[in-house]
Amino acid sequence: MEDNIFAKIGRGDITVETIYEDAHVIAFRDVNPQAPVHALVIPKKPVENVLALTPADRELAGAVLLAAAEVARRLGVAETGVRIVFNAGADAGQSVPHLHAHVLGGRKLAWPPG
Ligand code: AMP
Repeated sequence: MEDNIFAKIGRGDITVETIYEDAHVIAFRDVNPQAPVHALVIPKKPVENVLALTPADRELAGAVLLAAAEVARRLGVAETGVRIVFNAGADAGQSVPHLHAHVLGGRKLAWPPG
């Protein structure tokens, strides 16, 4: 689990152009954007997905949410609206086994998602 691309970014083994960073998280642009604004927020600590969070991760989980909101502000979509998505597991299409929040905006987003 700790050899995946986001674990490497979280450890600093791979550097990315950061949108936001603090002690708990790093945010950067998605390499395959699904909207005009599409960023990811990951914890530096390896956690597989939201289902793997424990009560000990309360501060980290809050940091991910606060960072997602800050990313929306920094990328100029806080006023127009934003969707923050956590895929967890196979049916949700999670492809990288390291917790990440998608921050999507800049266009009308369909609901329900496909
Ligand atoms: P998920 O399908 O929810 O696991 O989302 C994984 C996301 O990571 C996808 O939207 C990919 O485009 C994105 N992604 C994969 N590798 C990278 C990378 N090196 N830098 C930025 N985004 C990436």
